[in-house]
Amino acid sequence: MKIIIHRGTKQIGGCITEIKTDNGRIFIDMGEELPGAGSLGDFWIDGVTAGRPDCDAIFITHYHGDHAGLYRDVLPGIPIFMGEVARELFLALSTWIKDDGAEKIRSFKTFKALDRIVVKDMVVTPLLVDHSAFDAYMFLIESGGRRILHTGDFRLHGFRGKALIPTLEKYVGTVDVLITEGTSLSRDDRTFVEERELKANAQKILAENKYTFVLCSSMNIDRIAALYHATPKRKYFICDSYQKDILDIVTSHAKDRTSLYNFQKVTVYGSNLEDRFRECGFCMLVRSNDYFSRVMQKYPDAKFLYSMWDGYRSGKYQNDEIARFIADYNFISFHTSGHASRDAIEAVCRAVSPKIGIIPIHSEAPRKLEDSKMDYAIKYLQDKEEFNL
Ligand SMILES: [Zn+2]
Ligand SMILES: [Zn+2]
Repeated sequence: MKIIIHRGTKQIGGCITEIKTDNGRIFIDMGEELPGAGSLGDFWIDGVTAGRPDCDAIFITHYHGDHAGLYRDVLPGIPIFMGEVARELFLALSTWIKDDGAEKIRSFKTFKALDRIVVKDMVVTPLLVDHSAFDAYMFLIESGGRRILHTGDFRLHGFRGKALIPTLEKYVGTVDVLITEGTSLSRDDRTFVEERELKANAQKILAENKYTFVLCSSMNIDRIAALYHATPKRKYFICDSYQKDILDIVTSHAKDRTSLYNFQKVTVYGSNLEDRFRECGFCMLVRSNDYFSRVMQKYPDAKFLYSMWDGYRSGKYQNDEIARFIADYNFISFHTSGHASRDAIEAVCRAVSPKIGIIPIHSEAPRKLEDSKMDYAIKYLQDKEEFNL
C-alpha cells in the first residue's frame, strides 16, 4: 500500500489523503483550506479533480469544509461516501446557503458505522467518533494484510468520547500505520474542558438568567444538545427554521437510541410569540446576521454566550462577519475544542500500537508529537510525498 498526504502534513484544514494499492486508488477526505490559511495556489489532483477520472472512491470523515469542501471539484462518476445522517445534514446546509452543491451531495453514497466497504482490493471500515460535527468517522483501511487507521477529527472529551478506545480495542486492534489529527499539538494544555462540564455551566447560567442568546455553529449538534438539555423546563429553547430542520434530522435518526439527540421541544422564533418568550424566558440560538441583531436588541439585559472557536474572533483565521457581530456585545466565552487533546492522541496511539509508525496530519506543529515520548516511530511526510508500506 502507498500513502500520499496531498495536503495536511503541516497545516490544519485542506485535508486530503490518498491510499493506493496495485489495483485501487481511494481518498480519505477532500477538504478545502480554512479561510485565512493562505492559498497554496492552483490545486488539483490528476484523476480526481482534473483529467480523466482515475479514482475508485472518496471517503469523507465528516462534513466540515476542511474535510469535505472540495467535493464539488470531484470529477463526475467518482463515488463519494459519507455517513448517512452526515449527508442529510450536509445537504440541508447546502440547500440553506444555496451553494449549488445539493445535486452532487444527493449522489453521495452513504455508510453506517462498522460497514465493511470493499473497493477493489481494499476494505474500508468506518468507526464512529465524537467530534464537533455529527456522524463523524475514522476509517480503517485494510489490504493484503496491511492495515491503516485514519482518524479524521475526533476527541475523547465529548459526550460519546469514552466509547472510542473500547471501539478501537474491539474492532481495530493493532495497525501498521496510524494517520492521526494533531490539531492541538501546538497547544500547551494536555486536556480540554469536557462537554458535560460545559453543560453544567450552561445549567447554572440558564437558571440564573431569564434570557440567554448563544452564537454557535448550526452543525455542532453536541454543543446544541448540551444547551438544550441545560435549559430549564419552563423556558423556551428557540432557534430559526433552518436550525430546526437540522435538529429535526438528528432527532428523526437518533432519538430512539439516546435522549441526548431528542430535540422535540425546540420552538422556531416568531415575533408573534414574543410575549410568551418574554414571560417564560429562553435560550435562543442565534446566527451572526442583522435579523438576530434586531431580536437581540429587544433584550438588552440578556446574557450572550459565544460558543465557537476563539480563532474566528481575531487573528489569521478571523471570520469578519462573526467579529463584527459580537463586537457590539459583552459575551461569555463558552466553548471547548472539537479536537483530540494530547492525552487523547496518545490514548489512540496506544490502543492501535502502530507497527510501522504514526503520520501526524491536520497540525501546525506535527513535530511536537515527539514530546509525547512514545515507543512508536513517527513519520513526517511532505505534502504529496509517497510513503510505501
Ligand atoms: Zn478538521
Ligand atoms: Zn472537523
